[in-house]
Amino acid sequence: MGDTMTTQRNLAHLTWPEVARAVAEGATTVILPLGATEQHGPHLPLGTDTIRAEGLARRLAARLPGALVAPVLPIGCSDEHAGFPGLLSLDAATLAAVIVDCARRMVAWGVTRLVLLSAHGGNGQALALAAERLRHELPVLRVWAPEERLAPDEAVLAVATGAGITPQEFGLHAGEGETSEVLWLRPDLVRAEAAAAGYCGEMATILDTLRRLGLKAVTPNGVLGDPARALAARGDRYLDARAGALAKELLAW
Ligand SMILES: [Zn+2]
Repeated sequence: MGDTMTTQRNLAHLTWPEVARAVAEGATTVILPLGATEQHGPHLPLGTDTIRAEGLARRLAARLPGALVAPVLPIGCSDEHAGFPGLLSLDAATLAAVIVDCARRMVAWGVTRLVLLSAHGGNGQALALAAERLRHELPVLRVWAPEERLAPDEAVLAVATGAGITPQEFGLHAGEGETSEVLWLRPDLVRAEAAAAGYCGEMATILDTLRRLGLKAVTPNGVLGDPARALAARGDRYLDARAGALAKELLAW
């Protein structure tokens, strides 16, 4: 289980002379992972997207020469989960402001490229806002923020399909997909005995309701998908597929 990240990549584990040396040697890209604290069904912890963002950032950094990984931001924009206990959430403008503030400090010690790596779809508006503000306020910094996409990555879905997992099982939230990833990254936090299917219909038909009314209106247990066939080894492959697809885009950037 679990992934490790060499100390040379992990900003929070480096000393300042080590950061200075790394930057001088060309490590001028920072990956900022963004998570969330929101319900993930009766079987996954509220920090699921935070755990996944960190896991993905480690894998991406391993594929990108000259990338440092900043500490994950554990609270995102999650109001679509209102009504479920445990929610913490920021307004999009607040999260964007946190990103802009951190970016300003990064530029001061030599960072030239910032990768906003979110594992939570609801952060999309804040990322777009931050990217827009940074383009005007810090033009020396190049910012990469993927489009907000509620649908899973194609490379990841290809892994699922190849294993006989339907998109409805894989799901959009706490289904087979996210459950497999947490089983790989933090199996100690998965309550497998509490796992139950949620909404398992066409995901495309509920997107509008999700945006307007939130998950509670669609799924009483908070799950979109079916975690029954989740598997740690497949979670490992999902993370690899996503990191590989992102690395390809970023290497061309
Ligand atoms: Zn999630």
